Amino acid sequence: MHLILMGPPGSGKGTQAKLLAKKYNLEHISSGDLLRSNPNLTEDQKAVINSGKFPPDEMMFDIIKAKLDSCKEKGWILDGYPRTVNQALLLKDILDEGSFHIIYLDACRDMLRKRITGRITCQNCGSVFHKNFAPPKEEGICDNCGSELTHRADDNGKVLINRLEMYYKMTEPVIQYYEKHADLKTVKSDKDTTIEDVFEKLRKILKK
Ligand code: AMP
Repeated sequence: MHLILMGPPGSGKGTQAKLLAKKYNLEHISSGDLLRSNPNLTEDQKAVINSGKFPPDEMMFDIIKAKLDSCKEKGWILDGYPRTVNQALLLKDILDEGSFHIIYLDACRDMLRKRITGRITCQNCGSVFHKNFAPPKEEGICDNCGSELTHRADDNGKVLINRLEMYYKMTEPVIQYYEKHADLKTVKSDKDTTIEDVFEKLRKILKK
């Protein structure tokens, strides 16, 4: 199975991608994680990412292409790529658009802010928790590997505004592009929707 999960920051892409990867034995390819774990980033590139802006499309494409090339034998979920129409066009050059599912996780803006500003992540295993909605059993400690939980540098109110602006300006047109050129499916959530609700809807779309 090959799947692209789209949606604004805080829509639950990362959480759902992890659950789906586990259930269907897929490679979870998170462009944000690939950037954060890249030891070759310059200070300027780190500053771009920490401010919520985007590094150049060609750089992102090279990173994703290398990762896709390395897991040809396995199914995958792309989380966070493509984020611009140009990235989608670059991807089209190496993947047939009928060869993957595309699912858009839609969520209202107010909810995104609440979700992101309380988010705490594990630097070691990538698990994600939330101070109010999904707290770890022991404060500040990852339930899965026991490492310390931290706030991502870009998970704060001011940078969040930039990230959402970048999303609505640069990434929403990608949704429109896939609505026109592919079979994009949408899963909507509101404040009462749980992680399990979304996962169930995704399973139904993937028919497994
Ligand atoms: P994420 O972990 O998906 O929220 O991504 C964190 C940050 O990494 C984003 O705010 C961007 O600065 C950068 N980033 C991740 N994926 C991409 C992409 N496909 N294109 C451009 N920038 C990206």
